Amino acid sequence: MMNRRQLVCTAGAALFAGVPQSHAATSYDLIIKGGLVIDPSVGLDAIRDVAIVGGKIAAVEANIAGDAKETIDARGKIVAPGLIDIHTHAGRTKEGPQLALQDGVTGWVDAGSGGADNIDQVAAVARGAPQIGRCLVNIARTGVVTPTGELHDINSANVALAQGAIARNRDVVVGVKARLSNNVAGSNDLEALRRAQEAAAPFNLPVMIHVGQNYSPLRAILALLKRGDIVTHMYAPGMNGILDDKGVLIPEVMAARRRGVVFDFGNGVADHFDWDTVEKATRQGLWPDTFSTDWNTASKTSGVVDLPNVMSKFIMFGMPLSQIIACATVNAARLFPCFDDRGTLNVGAPADVTLMELRDGTFDFLDNYKGTRSGRQRLFPAGTVLAGKVAPRA
Ligand SMILES: [Zn+2]
Repeated sequence: MMNRRQLVCTAGAALFAGVPQSHAATSYDLIIKGGLVIDPSVGLDAIRDVAIVGGKIAAVEANIAGDAKETIDARGKIVAPGLIDIHTHAGRTKEGPQLALQDGVTGWVDAGSGGADNIDQVAAVARGAPQIGRCLVNIARTGVVTPTGELHDINSANVALAQGAIARNRDVVVGVKARLSNNVAGSNDLEALRRAQEAAAPFNLPVMIHVGQNYSPLRAILALLKRGDIVTHMYAPGMNGILDDKGVLIPEVMAARRRGVVFDFGNGVADHFDWDTVEKATRQGLWPDTFSTDWNTASKTSGVVDLPNVMSKFIMFGMPLSQIIACATVNAARLFPCFDDRGTLNVGAPADVTLMELRDGTFDFLDNYKGTRSGRQRLFPAGTVLAGKVAPRA
């Protein structure tokens, strides 16, 4: 694994090895010209050109001179590091990864579609994906079971089987998932989480929990999380959520964040967030660390649409755009070692780039309870570059 400084040196060497040593003769594979480059990993938010050679970022500068085999006119568009979606179900179908790529997603994690009994299919989809696809193994051997839920029989949370599933898919399994809401786990929530931690421990992997309408108090659940673990559906309303019955954020949430627990939005379609909870929590300072769609091929039309649409919901709540892009790029990349050199347009990094258009107008956004709020801006996917190659549009 290379750190950022090594990346810069290696890329410099590659660039000078591959082209004549004259500045005037610099030639690139691709230049993305004149876009508003927002790369929170280096605090950049300015009109820049991005030059790519050999699948890596070669330069990010104003007015890059030099030839390129291909040029993208990005004027009027946002140019960001490739988006990373850490809670999807893209591994459920062969088409999932390609659809995500169309939405600007150059890295994804399938969060628990498969358990020990069926993770091998999800892993195969991940391995065959054009972009980095990874998965979390569900602590329930069945994987996600809807609508009845997979953890009402605690025997389904079999540590040995989960560990076997990780061991035989070590190349693509990057963590363990436990869905802990009352309709999935009932009173087994804490025991299921203990078993998820036990399964993950020998591999030193994070656990992602899905919360919402939990049987047990959230403080008891959070107490079982370690640094680097992820809470998805952070704004789930109802019993035992992040707010007490007066609408005040329970102190254990911020305490968990301070010790390194990550809070993920997790849009989804049912029971995962309502506008009221988002509003109350953000007013008390609880913003997402990462966005995710909880996307599957069936949810495009049910309020998720795509990751840029999910991000746009937080433009409406007043989150600065650079912070929003950070959540979907560098913040997400930090959570899993497979994304170590992603989420950035650093010179030398793999050239995964997402173009988006920020349109003004009136846009209706949906929560999970048919609540609609109107925002004045929305991000639309406007092109994806993966490993230096322009991804074909649908
Ligand atoms: Zn999910």
